[in-house]
Amino acid sequence: MLAEPQRQPRLERETSPPAATAPYFAGDVRSFELTRIGWVARLFRRRWFQFAVILPNQIIFWVALIGGFIGTVDPTRSFGTAITWYFWFFAVLAGALMVGRVWCQICPFGGFAEWIQRLTPWGRRERGLTLNRRWPERWAVWGIIPGALVFYLLTWVEEYYNVVGPGKPIYTSYLIIFVFALAIGTFSVFGRRTFCRYLCPLSAPVGIFSTVGVLSGFRTRDRERCMSCDTKECMRGSKVSYGCPWFEFPGSNATNQGCGLCTECFKGCPNDNVGLYLQPPLTNVHSPGKRRWDVAWALVLLWGIGWYQQWNALSWFSNARGTGIDDWLNRLTGWPHYPNPLGYLLLTAGVAAGYYLYSRAAARWAGADWRRLFTAGAYALIPVVGADYLARQLPKLWDHVTRVITTASDPFGWGWNLFGTARLPIYHTRLLPPGGVVATQVAVMAIATAAAGWAAWRIWRRDWGGERPRVLGALALAVLAAGVYTAVMYVAMQAAE
Ligand code: SF4
Ligand code: SF4
Ligand code: SF4
Repeated sequence: MLAEPQRQPRLERETSPPAATAPYFAGDVRSFELTRIGWVARLFRRRWFQFAVILPNQIIFWVALIGGFIGTVDPTRSFGTAITWYFWFFAVLAGALMVGRVWCQICPFGGFAEWIQRLTPWGRRERGLTLNRRWPERWAVWGIIPGALVFYLLTWVEEYYNVVGPGKPIYTSYLIIFVFALAIGTFSVFGRRTFCRYLCPLSAPVGIFSTVGVLSGFRTRDRERCMSCDTKECMRGSKVSYGCPWFEFPGSNATNQGCGLCTECFKGCPNDNVGLYLQPPLTNVHSPGKRRWDVAWALVLLWGIGWYQQWNALSWFSNARGTGIDDWLNRLTGWPHYPNPLGYLLLTAGVAAGYYLYSRAAARWAGADWRRLFTAGAYALIPVVGADYLARQLPKLWDHVTRVITTASDPFGWGWNLFGTARLPIYHTRLLPPGGVVATQVAVMAIATAAAGWAAWRIWRRDWGGERPRVLGALALAVLAAGVYTAVMYVAMQAAE
């Protein structure tokens, strides 16, 4: 038996704007329905569709996983580390910011665990391999924060073992195994994609940054039709489809943040009332239907991680002479080496505390409720924080992405030449000089700051009806300060990886 949809938890229901200003398609937003294109609709109706788009990534990640155990220990010669850290993470972030939650549609972690849970790679079975428990309500009120905390912990572990450096390929394998194990374990106990909704470490960054992208997520064509629909196959499932694995209801979906693009509701709606739309970028940032506290806090946590990773690239924070802040903290606490957990905790908590205090002070100055300002400001900051994550991947991308091509022919570093690319001189090719890398990072931050400023203006108009100009001032100041600070840090880092 598959789980009934869970009630939306309390945190997710909290919202800044009144419902009347949160219309279905975010007001007068223009949109284009992709699923009106015949071949797109036919493809999405095939049960094997999602299996087919997951399978290539499944193969790549299993090669990466196995390579860490049986392949070379040189990370620059290993296909697994090359594709994961020189390309994959960049592609996930770029896909989220430009398109939407596309990574989740093709993700091997959730995909593999779901195949086991359903006991079929693409069929429709009534029973699967899961205890089908419900995520307890007292946990669900925290929304995506548990997943954000898993990401927070994994980032520290990644820094400790220099996984993304990249370090030894075996560490990348351990990381992949951990996410697979966590996914399979959670899918085995809890119903549907509880893991993806609440616990996946990638769910917070991918879901939040996807709100910048142009893909709306699946939602209904005619909401009134859903109100009078008694069967609700989109949520309950049907003979040809599963109920929404992500516990979303397309009939009230007004953001792309929680839709994993699995196409089940599109397959299952007997009234042909579900579609996938293209919208202007940032629609789900400024007009998501409702603003969620858990999303705001998760964004602030991600922002703090971003600060930490920028600081640690500077010599006064950590250096070979042992004179940096992190080195001093290690001596003080007896910690063996970078990164000191106390430093990580203090800096990330400091960013959260700083933003909290700013929201309190700005709200008092603007005569607004601080909770609304805190949440609205966090949404306005999404483009800046997302761009920060993307910009941090650019040195690896520009300097080493060509190694994906060379290692593809020799994935384990055994001297193979499967596709004739193993010994190409592009192994040493840098696509941009260091100055060019920094220029692209600053350009990304400049575009994101402008986008966030525009989103702040839309948020102010929507949530405060264009009144209280000081609110707009507070939002704009936060966005501008964050964008300029981050760009300056990239200049200071000088393309450090
Ligand atoms: S939430 Fe995580 S496990 Fe689920 S599809 Fe997205 S990235 Fe994969
Ligand atoms: S099954 Fe179709 S019409 Fe019925 S509620 Fe779901 S999306 Fe709406
Ligand atoms: S069933 Fe529909 S709403 Fe739910 S995740 Fe899949 S595509 Fe999105």
